[in-house]
Amino acid sequence: MARYNGPVCRLCRRNGEKLFLKGDRCFTPKCAIERRPNPPGQRSPRRRKVSDRGLQLREKQKARQTYGVLERQFRRLYQEASRRSGVTGENLMQLLELRLDNVVYRLGFAESRAQARQLVRHRHITVNGQVTNVPSAELKLEDRIGWTERARKTTFFTMVKEWQGGREVPAWLAVDPAALEGQVVALPGPDEIDARFNDSAVVEFYSR
Ligand code: SF4
Repeated sequence: MARYNGPVCRLCRRNGEKLFLKGDRCFTPKCAIERRPNPPGQRSPRRRKVSDRGLQLREKQKARQTYGVLERQFRRLYQEASRRSGVTGENLMQLLELRLDNVVYRLGFAESRAQARQLVRHRHITVNGQVTNVPSAELKLEDRIGWTERARKTTFFTMVKEWQGGREVPAWLAVDPAALEGQVVALPGPDEIDARFNDSAVVEFYSR
């Protein structure tokens, strides 16, 4: 399964803002945006004006990179969002939020989406009691997310138990910090999604 393997802080610097791709490090002065806020590569003496199309492209890239989705998969998600009834931008945000790797991250079981993705790929996570190793799996209402017995014996699981206690989870998810299990208790609405991209710009980018 393909994924981006390059330096992730470079993506934040290219976008000119934090995408929070590295967990706790993003909140420290070690963050690359804090240290070098300029775009990567050779510095141009001239500041170029960005076209509307360029701005839409930037928003699309930001969304894609935040959720760690490659272009082809992201386009498929957009097509699925536009096929469903309702507002396409909101459908797209909902589809992204309901990805299994994102839910594991939102539940506080991982420090970043990349780490959540790894947990899923390494068969540590269960959905409704069944091991699932597909990070892009779309969760449904009332799905329960847990850990395998093998994962529960690891040091990482003990660490997660310690840190999860203090983490807030979105209103559409419920978590039992003692058992370290979560559940989708509602579908995420537009106001409950902590999205850092402009969904209308993404829709405009694809609908041209
Ligand atoms: Fe982005 Fe986090 Fe790297 Fe800062 S530390 S540049 S927020 S990935």
